[in-house]
Amino acid sequence: MKDQVAIVTGASRGIGRAIAVRLAQAQARVVAVARSAAGLRETCRLAEQAGGTCLPIEADVTNFQAVERIVQHVTRELRRVDVLINNAGTAPMSQMKDFDVGAFDAMMALNCNAVFYTTRAVWPSFAQQGGGRIVNISSIAAVDPFPGFQAYGATKAWVNAFTKAVAEEGRPHNIRAFAVAPGAVDTQMLRDRFPDFPADQCLTPQEVADTVAWVLDPRSQHASGAVVYIKK
Ligand code: NAP
Repeated sequence: MKDQVAIVTGASRGIGRAIAVRLAQAQARVVAVARSAAGLRETCRLAEQAGGTCLPIEADVTNFQAVERIVQHVTRELRRVDVLINNAGTAPMSQMKDFDVGAFDAMMALNCNAVFYTTRAVWPSFAQQGGGRIVNISSIAAVDPFPGFQAYGATKAWVNAFTKAVAEEGRPHNIRAFAVAPGAVDTQMLRDRFPDFPADQCLTPQEVADTVAWVLDPRSQHASGAVVYIKK
């Protein structure tokens, strides 16, 4: 990963922060994107401590113009983008009869639209420079939705299908795409919904980040299109 430029969305905490730090450890030039300036500052501090560089960008990735500005800014400042990690996501949990339509729309915007927007925004540079790599953070809920996660599980099934389609379209351009689909991971997202979930049944954010690093290894390139399920 030395000197490769990696954009990580949702990097202000949780799995995104762990991915940013893991890629920095591999000496990538990390671009950490989220809405919280304080969270991004801490991620960049940890990433730099781990041996990489880290450029924080405050942005809402559900806005296509904002996403285009991120890619333009990174291309101007760091000269290229090599890796895109679509990690930002949200998981409203509700029975159908109570599901708030606003929460549903916001989830679709982040879990699906934003994944399309970032991919669309980096694609021309990837194609022009002769390749690039995309890792989308999915979930085991795509194939095994927990009660109340019917809509969330469906967004992650969309992510899986999108990943496979993008991998096929990208193959002739050396654009590789993977999905990493974890079970429970010990983050704020999990703890907000399941405060008592047993820690020994959770993956750590670092374990997810290690899997991301694994699919980014050039030796994994021919597995492009794979959805890698991981759980404790
Ligand atoms: P988390 O702790 O809630 O973190 C979510 C991240 O997304 C935060 O950095 C948040 O930062 C960012 N974000 C939210 N809305 C955003 C927006 N509009 N624009 C830019 N950034 C935004 O979640 P997590 O557990 O780390 O989950 C990360 C990914 O893993 C998600 O895709 C999730 O579905 C998936 N996943 C999680 C689990 C689990 O058990 N935790 C299991 C399977 C899959 P700001 O609020 O600062 O913007």
